[in-house]
Amino acid sequence: MADLVTLDEAIRLVLENTSPLGTETVALDAAAGRVMTQPATAATDLPPFPSSAMDGYAVRAADTPGRLPISARVAAGLPPSAGLGLGTAVEISTGGVVPDGADAVVPLERVDVADGVVVIDFAVTAGDNVRDRGRDIRSGEVVVPAGTRLEAAQIGALAAAGVGSVVCGRRPRVAVITTGTELRDPGTPLAAGEIYESNGRMLAALLTQEGATVERIGMVADDLDAHAAAIREALSADVLVTSGGVSVGPHDLVRQTLTAAGFEEVFWGISVRPGKPVSFGRRGRTLVFGLPGNPVASLVGGLLLVAPALRRLQGDTAPETHPLVARLAATTRRNAARDDLLRGHVAPAGDSLVFTPITGQESHMIVRASRANAICRLRRGDEDAPAGTPVDVYLLGRAGP
Ligand code: AMP
Ligand code: MG
Repeated sequence: MADLVTLDEAIRLVLENTSPLGTETVALDAAAGRVMTQPATAATDLPPFPSSAMDGYAVRAADTPGRLPISARVAAGLPPSAGLGLGTAVEISTGGVVPDGADAVVPLERVDVADGVVVIDFAVTAGDNVRDRGRDIRSGEVVVPAGTRLEAAQIGALAAAGVGSVVCGRRPRVAVITTGTELRDPGTPLAAGEIYESNGRMLAALLTQEGATVERIGMVADDLDAHAAAIREALSADVLVTSGGVSVGPHDLVRQTLTAAGFEEVFWGISVRPGKPVSFGRRGRTLVFGLPGNPVASLVGGLLLVAPALRRLQGDTAPETHPLVARLAATTRRNAARDDLLRGHVAPAGDSLVFTPITGQESHMIVRASRANAICRLRRGDEDAPAGTPVDVYLLGRAGP
């Protein structure tokens, strides 16, 4: 593993070798988490009509202050049958259509009502509590641009603007192969020398969250025939992710099996810790990520390399995992040769974020890693990094320590 690539170089090479898959139309109700590949335009002005922001009385501002007889009642979904008569008020609820001729709504709490007459003892300003038609967006304008992954707010915006279906990137089909003669399924007894298989499950969870359809293949014993059979089974996938067997040991058979199956390696070895023995390659349009067996190394490889590739495959135009900047809570030793990917807690402190590593930074310590809310990239260097040093942190999607 002579020439390690940097993490940035690795991410660049992965994305350079990745291009969007086909598209499909998806019902909005099934589109959460999907990436839109065509912009969606509003089917209506939003709001579609001038609507009341309050429960109260629709009036003409010029009629106030005044005593205005109530001429009609308007509820949400039940529009007025006529415009507002001169010198009158219309009782209206939030979301009701403001009648023609009315230009303001006076909240219920600010008036007195007696014998069908509203008494308003102040001058109302035109426009108060009226939501103008089309103020949020106009019919035909773009609600969500192409290349966006749909989270809750975008789903809400599309629905509000009347969009019933969207064009999305196809979900990538990902095969996850776990290698290791020592692996057993959790929930079964362990014999001497065996451990529970965790990477396959962990990567399946991660990659499913990223929009992939995951098929798990494994656990595959450390022999060439078993490796070859598993890789053959996975060849029709868009992405193949392997775990373990990609380092320099005599039982590390993944790379040679991939080469024999026609994969061309783009790089092997990244100057990070953990996560050094990672291989990336392709065979036609099929990508392969050979991730390390150590669970924390497998996790960071999945987060920082595979996840961005899945996003780009789905048409995401900003597929990289973007870091925030935090400051080191304490002096931290640097590695001279490789960037450290430390697991820890990021929390606000004063006007910045502060990162504190968890204890237990070894690459097999997945339970310790599971308690972290962020991964910090501490760049390599010969000197210790003093407290306060700015570092990139990647959030792990769990708020708070
Ligand atoms: P390897 O990369 O195959 O040399 O494995 C490195 C370490 O990770 C060894 O201790 C393996 O037992 C462990 N390991 C490999 N694959 C898995 C897996 N799928 N789940 C949990 N631990 C694993
Ligand atoms: Mg192994």
